[in-house]
Amino acid sequence: MLAGIAACTLLGTVALASPASASPNNNTVKKLTKAVTVEGVFKHLDKFQAIAKANNGTRASGTPGYDASADYVAGLLKKAGYQVSRQQFDFAYYEDFGSSFAQVAPNPTTYVNGVDYELMSYSGSGVAEGQVVPVDLALTPPRDSSSGCEASDFAGVDIAGKIALMQRGTCAFGDKAANAEAAGAAGAIIMNQGNGTPEANSDRYDLYAGTLGEPVGIPTVAVSYGTGAQLAATAGLVLRIEADTTSEIRSTENVIAQTRQGRTDNVVMAGAHLDSVPEGAGYNDNGTGSAALLEVALQMAKVKPNNAVRFAWWGAEESGLIGSQYYVDSLTEKQVDDIALYLNFDMIGSPNYVFGVYDGDDSAQEGSGPGPQGSAQIEKVFEEFFASRKLPTVPADFSGRSDYGAFIDVDIPAGGLFTGAEGLKTAEEAALFGGLAGEAYDPCYHHACDSLTPVADGADAALYRALGKKYKLKGNVNVFALDVNADAVATAVLTFAYDTSAVNGVPGKTPGKGKGKDKHKGKPHGHKHGHKHCR
Ligand SMILES: [Zn+2]
Repeated sequence: MLAGIAACTLLGTVALASPASASPNNNTVKKLTKAVTVEGVFKHLDKFQAIAKANNGTRASGTPGYDASADYVAGLLKKAGYQVSRQQFDFAYYEDFGSSFAQVAPNPTTYVNGVDYELMSYSGSGVAEGQVVPVDLALTPPRDSSSGCEASDFAGVDIAGKIALMQRGTCAFGDKAANAEAAGAAGAIIMNQGNGTPEANSDRYDLYAGTLGEPVGIPTVAVSYGTGAQLAATAGLVLRIEADTTSEIRSTENVIAQTRQGRTDNVVMAGAHLDSVPEGAGYNDNGTGSAALLEVALQMAKVKPNNAVRFAWWGAEESGLIGSQYYVDSLTEKQVDDIALYLNFDMIGSPNYVFGVYDGDDSAQEGSGPGPQGSAQIEKVFEEFFASRKLPTVPADFSGRSDYGAFIDVDIPAGGLFTGAEGLKTAEEAALFGGLAGEAYDPCYHHACDSLTPVADGADAALYRALGKKYKLKGNVNVFALDVNADAVATAVLTFAYDTSAVNGVPGKTPGKGKGKDKHKGKPHGHKHGHKHCR
């Protein structure tokens, strides 16, 4: 660990160099978007890459790479005159280094990861080999399982040192595994529930990816209902689970920076998660959002906004939106009320990009519904920006996979930008944005190759060569997309820094423009989060 620190000191020196070209009066969209250059954004992105390189290749929360990234961001913002606060919090850190699952007896079989089984997130590390003990299974339809949910499920069951076979249903996977561990089991298997019909409810039958939510001490795997039923029916069954994981509580932080000017009862918030996945540097995810937001904040450091602007760099987003949720949960009702809107920037430079704008009015009628009242007006500001550049956009769904979720849940209008992750570009999108149809927006999403050197870090060389023929790429980032999106960030933040009246009716004043119109605040709505099941 010492090596990291030495590196940090070095980084510290470099990190705090004053931002060269912060003009004191970038108080119009024209001036600010001129001051925010893609070169300025890449300066920070390349720092993030250097930090990752100096810290075991990652900037994941709970690792020195994240702490150095936070030092870098906080250092520059403090120097630029912002009120900087660093909000520490604990979270469940998880890293999977590999696993195996096999039948020892009666029929020696090696099960395939991702086909026959999935290691559950926050699974304990180690080897569990032993007899399999079914725990309160409900194999007869309608299969209303509460397997493993009550400690009494283990009463009188000789499970010490053996492997508990449990079934999805009623309580969280984490509770089932923790109860099995408490009963002395050496390992656990949680089969899918098998309720409903395989045709209509395949997600209750098929192999699934699940999370235990919090660290559990025993190796735990998920299997399909079919595999589970087979295991339950096998006499003399001995299985072996081996897992190599890091699953523990670690500390990390959010970096918050607020303007010293502007009304604090109508705060404009803009955020980007600063952490990467453990696997890599997070050059696009989310170096692009973090770097663009930082450069915008630095270039508008001398602006005197009408509304206070609060920038946020979230920690532990990749562990389940933890930092932003922790922040919103820490607010009083008044503090929630004082937030006018929230803008989110997570992945804004995908190599095979689309210009995605969060669909505040749900005009696409896909996925989740509209955002809270005012979100449509946020979307409109972004759309007007792209229209002013004669560039197309596509609606991005509030899928619940980024940090706007906690804000939407407390009825704060939200919006932002997203250039795509593992999804495949459509032919229609390729016609609008160029690039490669049928290929992922970011082929290196959540991989080590999401870096400044994707091919050297394992990316498909032929694919990146083809992308490089279509676009100017710098590492795993599309230079044009990031350049335009950085200006979109600047435009939206500055627009609302002066005037949120279109969103929430609070009168604003934009230098050189008349007073904003009057409107009323809106109604709450429901929303689901994350994409790994927890029960
Ligand atoms: Zn992300």
